[in-house]
Amino acid sequence: MMEQTLSIIKPDAVAKNVVGQILARFEEAGLRIAATKKIRLSRVDAEAFYAVHKDRPFFKDLVDFMISGPVVVSVLEGENAMAKNRELMGATNPKEAAPGTIRADFADSIDANAVHGSDSLENAAIEIAFFFPQREIY
Ligand code: ATP
Ligand code: MG
Repeated sequence: MMEQTLSIIKPDAVAKNVVGQILARFEEAGLRIAATKKIRLSRVDAEAFYAVHKDRPFFKDLVDFMISGPVVVSVLEGENAMAKNRELMGATNPKEAAPGTIRADFADSIDANAVHGSDSLENAAIEIAFFFPQREIY
């Protein structure tokens, strides 16, 4: 099924200068970059984006990390884009991420884990609309 999903290259990976390498992995896997931009989230942005985690003990650290530097947000499009992106990312904890995944290769810790990807089609639609007006998606 043709799908769209949201990817965020997190501040750690942007600081490591591996944005191009990560975007290339999406393209090599057959996903198309339908939209992309570099932005720095405000605290209000990051708290709203990760609102589902607001009661978790790691919420403040997560928000602090996500606003610590710019991120690159993209809309990825293709067959099974949501699941395909999650597969390319690897497990949340890079120590558990399969070899060859983005998190295994570029992430340092469960906090600084290089990328975010939408975890359902419903959330993908919400997250895409959070960052991109329709006129920025092609
Ligand atoms: P993301 O939502 O960023 O794509 P994910 O879906 O793999 O990652 P979630 O469970 O949604 O993981 O958690 C969101 C983010 O919160 C994780 O990427 C990670 O940075 C952080 N996080 C999750 N669990 C923990 C934890 N136990 N300790 C510290 N940070 C955590
Ligand atoms: Mg998640």
